Amino acid sequence: MTALPTETDVVVVGGGLAGLAAARRLHRAGTPWFLVEAADRLGGRVATDAVDGYLIDRGFQVVNTAYPRQAALVDLAALELGLLTQGVLVRRGGAGHRMVHPLRDPLGVARTIVTGLADAAQLGRLGRAPGPVGDLSRAAGAERISSVGRAFDRIRLAGLAARCATYPVRRLLAAPELTAELELRRAGLSDRIVEELLRPFFSGVLGERELSTSSRVLAMVIRSFARGRVGLPAAGMAALPAAVAAPLPASLIAPGVPAVSVHAGRVVTPAGTIRCRAVLVATDPGTASRLLPGLGEVRLNRLTTYYHSTVEPPLDEPILLLDGDRRGIVANTVVLSRAAPTYAPAGRHLVATSVAGPDVPPEPVVRAELARLYGCPVHDWEHLTTVSVAGALPATPPPQGRLRKPVALGAGIFVAGDHRATPSAQGALASGWRAAGAILRHLGS
Ligand SMILES: Cc1cc2nc3c(=O)[nH]c(=O)nc-3n(C[C@H](O)[C@H](O)[C@H](O)COP(=O)(O)OP(=O)(O)OC[C@H]3O[C@@H](n4cnc5c(N)ncnc54)[C@H](O)[C@@H]3O)c2cc1C
Repeated sequence: MTALPTETDVVVVGGGLAGLAAARRLHRAGTPWFLVEAADRLGGRVATDAVDGYLIDRGFQVVNTAYPRQAALVDLAALELGLLTQGVLVRRGGAGHRMVHPLRDPLGVARTIVTGLADAAQLGRLGRAPGPVGDLSRAAGAERISSVGRAFDRIRLAGLAARCATYPVRRLLAAPELTAELELRRAGLSDRIVEELLRPFFSGVLGERELSTSSRVLAMVIRSFARGRVGLPAAGMAALPAAVAAPLPASLIAPGVPAVSVHAGRVVTPAGTIRCRAVLVATDPGTASRLLPGLGEVRLNRLTTYYHSTVEPPLDEPILLLDGDRRGIVANTVVLSRAAPTYAPAGRHLVATSVAGPDVPPEPVVRAELARLYGCPVHDWEHLTTVSVAGALPATPPPQGRLRKPVALGAGIFVAGDHRATPSAQGALASGWRAAGAILRHLGS
């Protein structure tokens, strides 16, 4: 166990992405610091358990290559990302529709890849045939414009993605602030494409089905998906915080040491009190509100992931499958081991299925949805575990302003975390970096 100092310049409370990013900046500046982490491992909400040859992340999450702070702190190539297919599949009315990336092929954003299925199992069978589904359908000449979204939807979606990808951030943040749902309507998108594609997709990203999130947060989410690729590290998502922490000396980090209280000039832990010139609270939002009562409560969104193992993968590619049938139970499902084979032992595949919002349906309910979505029998799939994270992401309804909440609270106390920026890994890293900058100014470094 790391010995606690009695004194240092900065105590960082919390070793999630925000705390680690702050420590990186303090370390680079040569300022004495020490980090206490309540859990026995670093990474916070980004964690991976290796269980019987499977890599079980703490809920389905991905690395997005477009996050600027992440790219500045981490060598992404070293993560050996297994990339997900760009675009999504939408299950609607017994057919699977491939929605290609709106900026890669604007007019092809919604093409039916499987039409007129007499038997819903056909999607599963097509997925298991050799080669990607899209190639198959093209070879068979079966592709036609899908009923998920019309031509004007495809053009407007491509326009929205292009604006979010290319406008300077300050311009995106100067736009009138609405809810995400109103923003999608304002962009002229039809009820159909919102309900059958965009609501399921964004609910899995934001952890809420109402799309009550700020349009400015939505713009940043669209920006990152339009500019980057998403993938899974070969060693699991925990490889991301491990890479952020890698350059930091282990002797300055104490896992298993929770801060009990923080005060101007000291942090109290069960292992002793550390006196300091500045304190950075980089915990989860709930703990931050308890340690810093003036901060106020942060509402949190829940994400639940059901992990299943199967011998026969229901699809041959790592593509997100969305429920376009408006059933409102499953947000998305994906064969993780198609992106990163390290996620499952030889001869098995790992399927992650996400549910957004406060309800946690029983596994048999989700299993029935999976049979419908993939269109294949799933009775022999093994339910490995369900991971439900009540505080997966801070809720960010309007007004969020410029997406940068204050990090300096006065008297040498600072705060960081995704609740001070956007609800994402980028938000956590950027807020930690920003808070460390404010601390260095406070210390006169
Ligand atoms: C299921 C799920 C899916 C997600 N998907 C994505 C995604 O695809 N893309 C994306 O960008 N983001 C995603 N996120 C969000 C992303 O993981 C978080 O935004 C980010 O990890 C938050 O980091 P943080 O450092 O702000 O907080 P946390 O990760 O919560 O870190 C806080 C740390 O503080 C520690 N701590 C708490 N109390 C104390 C105490 N008293 N003393 C000391 N330490 C304490 C905790 O143990 C923890 O390590 C997802 C999150 C979840 C849960």
